[in-house]
Amino acid sequence: MAKKQFKAESKRLLEMMINSIYTQKEIFLRELISNASDAIDKIYYKALSDESLVFNKEDYYIKVAVDPSQRTLTLTDTGIGMTQEELENNLGVIAKSGSLAFKQENEAKDGHNIIGQFGVGFYSAFMIADEVVVTSKALGSEEAYRWTSKGADGYTIVPAEKDGVGTEIVLKIKENTEDEQYDEFLEPYRLRAIIKKYSDFIRYPIKMDMKSQ
Ligand code: ADP
Ligand code: MG
Repeated sequence: MAKKQFKAESKRLLEMMINSIYTQKEIFLRELISNASDAIDKIYYKALSDESLVFNKEDYYIKVAVDPSQRTLTLTDTGIGMTQEELENNLGVIAKSGSLAFKQENEAKDGHNIIGQFGVGFYSAFMIADEVVVTSKALGSEEAYRWTSKGADGYTIVPAEKDGVGTEIVLKIKENTEDEQYDEFLEPYRLRAIIKKYSDFIRYPIKMDMKSQ
């Protein structure tokens, strides 16, 4: 008898992953910062082989900002960005890693700094956010797109406005409950401590707005 492929209940799988893959909520920041760093590395590697692309180090950074009144935490990077198709493939397919693919395609040029490979880190954002909005403009593209999701229910992608190439991720931080605290993820000093703990090795500047907006 022909071998059959397993099917997956993707909604349940995503819920399970969000709730059980990580023991600590705070690591969502490590995951998003590593993705931002990977995105900048990809421009760096492209610039090695593409003479029309110049990598000016000061143009590449990761920014973290909070707005407690809106309960948002925003991560911005000036990395390679994502096309509409990449938003669909990389954020819409669980366990699909665009970074692993990039590493494999660019093996000859050495992509050893790129961290991503499992294709699940991004979803850790849903441990602390009840909505995630990703606005991205890919290198070489004129258009930007916005991916919006509340988690297991699915996502939408629509055309959007964005000035420069790169990605902006807005996390709508969950409300505190009796058992779980989320307000700490709106405190710049707490976020800075998390960044120091897990992302100290990142090679690009992580700018942090210390005053609350
Ligand atoms: P991994 O990092 O292991 O590949 P993730 O779930 O963290 O998996 O991310 C999935 C994919 O989404 C990445 O491989 C990358 O292609 C894309 N991605 C995520 N965040 C960004 C970002 N800030 N800029 C560009 N691409 C991103
Ligand atoms: Mg990742």
